Amino acid sequence: MTTPAADSRSTLIHAALDRPGDDPIFSLNAEALRRSRAGEEILNATLGALMDDEGRLAILPSVFEALRAVPPEAAAAYAPIAGPPRFLAAVVRDLFGEGPLGQASVAVATPGGTGALHHAIVNFLEPGQALLTTSYYWSPYQILAAHTGRRVETFRMFDGEGRIDLAALERALRRQVQVQGRALLILNTPCHNPTGYALDAREWREVLDLTNEIARSAPLALAVDHAYAKFGRSGIEPWARADGALDGDAVLLVAWTVSKSFAQYGARVGALVACHRDDAERRRIQNALSFSCRGTWSNCNHHGMLAITELLSDPDLRARSDAERERLRQLLDQRVSAFNRHAARAGLRYPRYEGGFFVTVFTPDAERTASRMRELGVFVVPLSGAVRVALCSTPARDVPRLVEALRQGLEAAGG
Ligand code: PLP
Repeated sequence: MTTPAADSRSTLIHAALDRPGDDPIFSLNAEALRRSRAGEEILNATLGALMDDEGRLAILPSVFEALRAVPPEAAAAYAPIAGPPRFLAAVVRDLFGEGPLGQASVAVATPGGTGALHHAIVNFLEPGQALLTTSYYWSPYQILAAHTGRRVETFRMFDGEGRIDLAALERALRRQVQVQGRALLILNTPCHNPTGYALDAREWREVLDLTNEIARSAPLALAVDHAYAKFGRSGIEPWARADGALDGDAVLLVAWTVSKSFAQYGARVGALVACHRDDAERRRIQNALSFSCRGTWSNCNHHGMLAITELLSDPDLRARSDAERERLRQLLDQRVSAFNRHAARAGLRYPRYEGGFFVTVFTPDAERTASRMRELGVFVVPLSGAVRVALCSTPARDVPRLVEALRQGLEAAGG
């Protein structure tokens, strides 16, 4: 607890005094690196980037070709505040094809999905209000909310059958609408970070029925965190079809990003797309989001956005980047299959896992499990009630060792 005397010695405002400085995942990674350099055989399943089987960052060569082809004067110029119109149109087409939802969309450029989530939070929640998400969630949601004077509330993610706990979602959403008069629900699917879970068609239908129903009585924003979507099972998801999200008055938001889909983590290229059936409301949303762009980062990486526009629009470049990504998806799928095979044999408990960068394995004592695993040279991230395992950085050949370490880690935790 900070004393008033200590406060008065700092130049920081009160709220900024006790911010945690280092991300726990990066600290774990630092220890893994240190031990590996000292000669230990380390298996590091903590980091959230897709690595090839030799431990190098996986990239898409076509992206670099597109980056090289951008004229220097265009790359160096400021981008429009809301983002280049061709870029935004290409993002909307990427999400909705030529379908009717595209006609009902507005969009602004953001630095990755993080920027998109920021704009969702500051424009669809009043200060002091809480966003709603699953009980397992990507921890920066909490930072984004705290940093903007908002909060996070969660609903129990899984029911007894390991499916999304829709009853818990409904209770939480109704309560929020009653208390706050509005709600912002963020769902990260498919390939949820950290659990790997993807809502299936039935779950989506139920979520959409619920949100559409609640939206009749209160403003409601349903935000799909789309960070890993291109690594999920292919096929348009129910929320992206015309017969889904726009039945009611809810606004559908999509946090779109190239970080994982084009393996461009550092490019900071993304967008927030908002779909609403009413023209006037769409205009208001577009204005509000553009205002937020001006009031935060002003404009985004022009070079990156111009290159991505070509990758999404030029048929040859698009086909090549799709094929390159498909190879990465297959690499990941081999790891996922190996994990499912070995984990089932070892009796590990974890959510339905059909693809994606991560999975979580449930444990009664995550710290104990992770620490026993570290003794064995295997690094995972402890969460509340589970450990997160990054298959994106674990070659299929290492999966048996990973699963055996998880088994021993669970045993140490009495699981
Ligand atoms: N959402 C989730 C669940 C993520 O895991 C990430 C990145 O790790 C993001 C959003 C945003 O990433 P970026 O801002 O790089 O697009």
